[in-house]
Amino acid sequence: MVKFYGKSVYKGMAIGPVVVLKNEEEKVKRKKIEDPEAEIKRVTDAVGMAQEQLQALYDKAVREVGEASAAIFEVHQMMLEDEDYLDAIYSMIRTEGINAEYAVAMTGDNFSAMFAEMDDDYMKARAADVKDISNRLVQCLNGGGGNNLNFSEPSIIVADDLSPSETVQMDKEKILAFVTVHGSSNSHTSILARMMNIPALIGVPLELNKIESGVKAVVDGASGEVIFDPNEFVCEEAEKKLEQEREKLRLLQELKGKETVTRGGRKINLYANIGGVSDVAYVLENDAGGIGLFRSEFLYLGREDFPTEDEQFQAYRQVVQTMAGKKVIIRTLDIGADKQVDYFNLGKEDNPALGYRAIRICLKQPDIFKTQLRALFRATMYGNLSIMYPMITSVEEVEKIYAIVEEVKQELTEAQIQFKLPEQGIMIETPASVMISDKLAQIVDFFSIGTNDLTQYTLAIDRQNEKLDEFYNPHHEAILRMIQMVSDNAHKYGKWAGICGELGADPELTEQFVRMGLDELSVSPSMVLPLRKAIREME
Ligand code: PEP
Ligand code: MG
Repeated sequence: MVKFYGKSVYKGMAIGPVVVLKNEEEKVKRKKIEDPEAEIKRVTDAVGMAQEQLQALYDKAVREVGEASAAIFEVHQMMLEDEDYLDAIYSMIRTEGINAEYAVAMTGDNFSAMFAEMDDDYMKARAADVKDISNRLVQCLNGGGGNNLNFSEPSIIVADDLSPSETVQMDKEKILAFVTVHGSSNSHTSILARMMNIPALIGVPLELNKIESGVKAVVDGASGEVIFDPNEFVCEEAEKKLEQEREKLRLLQELKGKETVTRGGRKINLYANIGGVSDVAYVLENDAGGIGLFRSEFLYLGREDFPTEDEQFQAYRQVVQTMAGKKVIIRTLDIGADKQVDYFNLGKEDNPALGYRAIRICLKQPDIFKTQLRALFRATMYGNLSIMYPMITSVEEVEKIYAIVEEVKQELTEAQIQFKLPEQGIMIETPASVMISDKLAQIVDFFSIGTNDLTQYTLAIDRQNEKLDEFYNPHHEAILRMIQMVSDNAHKYGKWAGICGELGADPELTEQFVRMGLDELSVSPSMVLPLRKAIREME
């Protein structure tokens, strides 16, 4: 039995088997091996698996983008058959007695460096391809396409850190808890854990290579403990706590169907945040009055290419239809910063949180934006859909957005595609937007305050940086004054204002938010019923 402590980002108990997700460095670590021929057999099996993957990618690309663009996968298949490349790997395994992963990674680096130094431009360009096929081979040696994110039984996920695109690919029904070595409490993985009602610990000082997948563990999100290989007593205590939690949840269920209203009669719109279509189940389960933030960028994560207009339309339509007339606020693409997607080719930036992201991408690459807007406008016919724009800093940005929206409306009208006019609001998550909220209130329909980024930009603290967790204080007077200012300016012009950042779910502030005059709180689904209870008990 071994115990570690971390920082809790979501409370709750979990008991079950562990799945360890190894990071890239761990996968290619040099190790001595006993049986070189068995190691070589692993390489030939991995080559077979990689060939199959490449064939499937080739077929998909031919269907979607045509033969010319698909040819690259054929080139990769040929390179995987190259005798010089394979011989170099085999010889390294035999002469140095080392593991297949390391031999493949080193050979990839060597061949790639050799190609990069050639004079011929075509051969130079092959350097990246060799790297690519070597990475694929290493992944296949580890059992498939990167970390296997689809577990056969409900498990506790243990990892160095998790990216939003990794978490989005996991089957949420199969996750009992997250335990990570790194990560910050305001990262999207933490937000996801809260949304799914999953106990999560970050900053746990583990050595991943010392923990085996399959071992049993107990996670206590309240005390911040994770215990591997627990004894019978620990398991019994954990089962008891689990039962108490279930009982608490059962009591909260009685609040379903009841209004979110204070004793004095003030009604608050209590909505939920989601990241994808399947999350609507959590919204219904917790009886939220609507969806106050659909982070649509999650539709773009964990895939190889842009979602088409039709794919997006189907997702938006399904969400608004399922919500059956309740408000659904869909935020347009907020990619960039911690939400990176290879096919956007955003390039490396020194300060990605202050960089090319969200509405900035949409305004500079209007084709991407228009595809999403068309899908959103088409979906307006199926329910109560509002659109929200992220990372706004100026009136001019909103005017530019409206000009693009006009083009989209005109194109749809010309194509005789029906739509209704949706409410259009903005996120208030930059200090600039707070300071000019009087002007912005005159040109938009609503404000939703994104306290995660507003705190980051106001206090000059990277929300992803785990070292700064103790300085990241969304209760800071500056933030609370800003929220009051935004609420007042919205109401001055007859508009409504709410909070969709994590602070909206902080029970210590619920009463203060109601007093500030906020009209809406949009929180993770698991927090809807606890907040309804708090608001109903308020004078
Ligand atoms: C926020 O910044 O508070 C917000 C709700 O958006 P996200 O967390 O997706 O950046
Ligand atoms: Mg934000």
